[in-house]
Amino acid sequence: MDSLLSVIQKHWGYDSFRPLQREAMTAAMESQDSLTVLPTGGGKSLCYQAPAVCRNGMTVVVSPLIALMKDQVDSLSECGVPAAFVNSSLSSQERMKVASQVRGGELKLLFAAPERLVQQRTIDFLADVDLSFIAIDEAHCISNWGHDFRPEYRRLSSLRQAFPDVSIHAFTATATEQVRQDIAEQLNLKAPKILVGSFDRPNLLYRVERRHDVIGQIREVVDRHPNESGIVYCISRSNVEETAATLNSLGYKTLPYHAGLEPDQRKANQEAFIDEKTNIIVATVAFGMGIDKSNVRYVVHAEMPRSVEAYQQESGRAGRDGLEAECSLIYSGRDTSTWEFLINQSENDDNRTASLQALGKMESFCFSSVCRHRQLVSHFGQQLEQDNCGACDVCLNEIECHQDPLLLAQKIVSSIYRQGQRYGAEYTSLVLRGSKSKKVLTNGHDQLSTYGLLKDESERDVRGWIDQLVAQEFLSRSGEYSVLVISDSGFQLLKGKGTPQLTRPKTRQQAASATGKWEGVDRGLFENLRQMRMEIAAKRGVPPYVILGDMTLRELARFRPTKTGDLLQIYGIGQKKREEFGATVAERIAEYCREEELAADLPILDTNRIAK
Ligand code: ADP
Ligand code: MG
Ligand code: ZN
Repeated sequence: MDSLLSVIQKHWGYDSFRPLQREAMTAAMESQDSLTVLPTGGGKSLCYQAPAVCRNGMTVVVSPLIALMKDQVDSLSECGVPAAFVNSSLSSQERMKVASQVRGGELKLLFAAPERLVQQRTIDFLADVDLSFIAIDEAHCISNWGHDFRPEYRRLSSLRQAFPDVSIHAFTATATEQVRQDIAEQLNLKAPKILVGSFDRPNLLYRVERRHDVIGQIREVVDRHPNESGIVYCISRSNVEETAATLNSLGYKTLPYHAGLEPDQRKANQEAFIDEKTNIIVATVAFGMGIDKSNVRYVVHAEMPRSVEAYQQESGRAGRDGLEAECSLIYSGRDTSTWEFLINQSENDDNRTASLQALGKMESFCFSSVCRHRQLVSHFGQQLEQDNCGACDVCLNEIECHQDPLLLAQKIVSSIYRQGQRYGAEYTSLVLRGSKSKKVLTNGHDQLSTYGLLKDESERDVRGWIDQLVAQEFLSRSGEYSVLVISDSGFQLLKGKGTPQLTRPKTRQQAASATGKWEGVDRGLFENLRQMRMEIAAKRGVPPYVILGDMTLRELARFRPTKTGDLLQIYGIGQKKREEFGATVAERIAEYCREEELAADLPILDTNRIAK
């Protein structure tokens, strides 16, 4: 264990293990098959990278995407760990070079695409190589129960036979029991050590709002994060284009990403985001897999995702570095209909039922007034320890539960009944709010006993309550015009039976990002170092976060070390990084502090660490 910890310090500049890392690494050190389930950002890569460095021989890592392999190899190289990948992006010359590095015992890790690894040629080639163990990253890709099944992963079941003496270690963030079992079976794991971490992501602040002014709502989040990276998700390509264009016309710099773009364009936009040439990417769910960018500070869903699993995946791309990040979900009842339409169009009967169920769960998530962290972990069969997570709209008291929801629901349902169940939400809200619009007057609906019953409420709240009643199945929407229809349980409400939950947003006291880990950090210096990081990254042809993470920049801008000797104490700086750009960093800090007359070389005490 001592050797693992010193390897982590030396190469990565971290001083402790994250939860379950020690256990997962021990399994790899002792050649006991294992399956490790940790959430996104939990630190799965280190679980195989550190033992790979400690053990003799070379570790083979299976990874599903070229971008992921490249990212990891770049990061490892920057940490002074020799690694390479083989996949279809290499020329035959480059492949030969890797082969000779492998033969010469020069590499600690070799990343390979699954289809390549199981080829007889590769197996024969590796037969003469001293292999320490095999790691399977994103192992859920082997299961067709998972959300990202890849047929080529199935062929990994032959690995056990091909390398009978080498232990296999699988890693995934997918939490369902079914997928877990499937992974263990497909890979023929032998009495595997199964390690399942907590799925909670305490650094993520979740917020759910009804959509009323989508661009305004997106801007509210984006404006809290100047110069920081964020993703805005939309359901459709056309919405991606439209949202990106609108934001750009308002002076934001965004790029779109969806499957309809030319592959070159798509790649260029993705790289611009990763390289921090653009801060905001507006995307469909086609964007994200294979993006290990650690400093995404917010994820906005401009429309509701299709399932809680998808939401967990997509929102989980924020805050991988463990620093605070924001996840804002902006939904409307209409999103459910959009998904229903898409699901009915594209899926066979078996999948359809499951997809519609998953959609229903997502909708309940939006309308529920239970802590978001609690809802998410309980969806994956876990419990949240604390009562108040301190990081969601519910626990931050940003939504208000109506005092008499039954009476309120009765007003709404009875108006719909009196209107003859022939109108949609917009019209119903007009009647309830006592509108003098021509349509209401011509229909004589100003004569209904429910007319004006909610005249003191805002349209936004009334529409929100109607959506909530639909989600709780007291009402349903029917037909092309989304006419509101009362269900059996809706009629029960009129008889005083049932417990609807109706909420509305409160005016927010304070922006959330103020609570971030910025204490003592000089923002100007942080920005300055961020620029420096971009310059170094561009020169070396790697993403900025591979050079230094945001946590490291914050610690630098807090303690302001100007002697390279002190840099090793900073989170995320190991020997190689100190050698490579320690002098540049120290000079830059010294210069800044001189110019700004700012105190430098503050004592680096554990009590004031940003990274704790
Ligand atoms: P995952 O694959 O589980 O989503 P990663 O392996 O990409 O997560 O790790 C997420 C981030 O956490 C990376 O920036 C990584 O360097 C950092 N990290 C991992 N382990 C530790 C540790 N023990 N101490 C500090 N940071 C860590
Ligand atoms: Mg990973
Ligand atoms: Zn909460």
